[in-house]
Order: sequence, then structure tokens, then C-alpha cells
Amino acid sequence: RAKSGGRNRLVAFVPEMTLAAQRRAQLEADLRRAIEQEALLPYYQPQFDCRTGAMVGVEALLRWPHPERGFVSPGEFIPVAEDTGLIVELGRWVLRRACADVAAWDRQGAPPLTVAVNVSARQLKEPDFLGDVLAALHTSGLAPGRLELELTESLLMDDVEGALTFMHAVRVAGVRLSIDDFGTGYSSLAYLQSFPINQLKVDRKFVQSLPVAGHTIATAVIALARGFGLAVIAEGVERPEQLEWLRAAGCDHAQGFLLGMPMPAAQLLALATRPATPVEA
Ligand code: C2E
Ligand code: MG
Ligand code: MG
Ligand code: MG
Repeated sequence: RAKSGGRNRLVAFVPEMTLAAQRRAQLEADLRRAIEQEALLPYYQPQFDCRTGAMVGVEALLRWPHPERGFVSPGEFIPVAEDTGLIVELGRWVLRRACADVAAWDRQGAPPLTVAVNVSARQLKEPDFLGDVLAALHTSGLAPGRLELELTESLLMDDVEGALTFMHAVRVAGVRLSIDDFGTGYSSLAYLQSFPINQLKVDRKFVQSLPVAGHTIATAVIALARGFGLAVIAEGVERPEQLEWLRAAGCDHAQGFLLGMPMPAAQLLALATRPATPVEA
């Protein structure tokens, strides 16, 4: 931000930056305390089969109800958690909670949903991240094939060798892998071929402008997934015409505000066990 002002404005920017730094330090302290007190919680956003309309899975999305500030956006606190390393503990906790919740829904009559959990680069660098994943599965009793880890292109490209080693190990264990926000990062198609992944997630950016714009890239991502034998899910579906387009284009799964907001576990269970849950066309 400082570079947007001229030389003479630099002084005026200093207090502002100090405030930002103070705010961030406060956020970090609050986050540390919130993690200790288990004050964060996972919300779950449903994912649907485009053809049948059945709910097939959920994505776990962290929520932080802050005592003074209301809900703090993950867009704000996840980067802080990543920079401070707090994401390691937080991510481990989300993984355990997500597996435990889905296993509990099974026992309460929900269909066998998959659960997608977002993974940060920092977590992948932990020597025993795979151990954390296996422990979450073991403790909850959830079948490995019901867990999907969402990786981003930047995470994969950050350390291709390390990511590949991890991906192969996790696939051997039976856990599923998807690439989140696909099309917005810097992964090369050559690498895509060697990544043992199961699904591509078309980024919201391309879905948002459907069917007018965005369809060239959405079509290409769907074709790419087909060619590699991968499933494809569209995120950020907000309008019926977007869902209609995706369905016609052969997209497998869809997720977005049109179909269901991220919600607390109890609410997701109620939705999943409701007699019929057709996707609104
Ligand atoms: P993401 O993994 O790409 O998650 C999708 C985001 O899009 C979520 O934002 C979700 O609430 C939002 N979304 C879903 N449907 C729609 C829609 O129809 N329209 C619009 N405009 N948005 C929609 P959220 O929950 O704020 O999370 C933001 C990001 O924070 C996530 O992006 C993910 O990168 C990160 N994040 C969230 N929870 C975790 C976590 O447990 N671990 C890690 N490492 N990252 C997380
Ligand atoms: Mg995600
Ligand atoms: Mg995404
Ligand atoms: Mg994202």
C-alpha cells in the first residue's frame, strides 16, 4: 500500500501501517486463545451430484465466532494461522472434527457423505502430517475413501517433490485428493498429469460469470478432468442458470450458495437426513 503514495505521503502512511500491525498482533493473540479454548468450529457446505441432485459430500470450512468482532472471515485469520504456524494445530483439529462429525452422521442415518478438508502448505511440511490424517481416520472410524484433502496449485508447486511423495502416500492409504480453486494458480499441465488426484474444483471465479463468460475455461477444465479420468466439481454456484449450464456441460458435482450455505454440523445432519433433497433446477 505504501508504494501507492508519493514520497511526501510516506509519513502519513506510517501510523496506518502501525495500526494494521497492531490489529494483526491482536488477531494473532486472539486466535491463539481461541484455538486453546476450542472456540473455532467447522461449518459444512453440502456438495451435490449434478445429474441426480443427491447430496454426495460436504466441505469443512472453519468459522471463528469472535467475542467482540463477530465472525472473523477465514480469508483474514487463515493467513495469520499460516504465518504463525498455528495452522498446524488448527488443521489437525479440523481434520479430527470433520472425520468425527461425518462418522457420527453415518450413525444417525445420513447417506455416506464424503468430507473435503482444506490443507495449507505449512501442514504439508510437517513430517507427520500423514500420521495426523491417519489418526483422524482411525479415531473416528471413518473409511479413508470418505475423506478428501483439498490442495491448491500453489501448495503443489511450492515443493513438487514433497507434494508428490505426500500425495502418493495418502492415496495408498485410500484418501481422496482434489485441487481447489483450479485455474487460478500456477500449476503446469505437465505436472497435472503426474499428480495422483481424484478431482478438480473449478474456481468460483469461472463459475460466477457463467453462462455468459467463463464458459471457455469451465469447458476446458471439465474436458481436462475427463481426459485425465478425474471427477470435476464447480464451486460458488449461485444462480440456477449456472447450475443448468454445468449440468449440460457434464460437470459431476456442484457446490454453492444456490444449493446450500456452509452451516453448523447439526443443521447439515438435518438436511442430509431429510426425506428428499432434490437440487432446485
Ligand atoms: P475455499 O476452500 O475455496 O472455500 C470456498 C469458499 O467459497 C468458502 O469461503 C465458502 O464459504 C465460499 N463459497 C461457497 N459457495 C459460495 C458461493 O456460492 N458464492 C460465494 N461468493 N462464495 C461461496 P470461506 O468459508 O470464507 O473460506 C475461504 C477460504 O479459507 C477457503 O477457500 C479456504 O481456502 C480457507 N479455509 C477455510 N477453512 C479452512 C481450513 O479449515 N483450513 C485451511 N487450510 N483453509 C481453510
Ligand atoms: Mg476448499
Ligand atoms: Mg475453492
Ligand atoms: Mg480458496
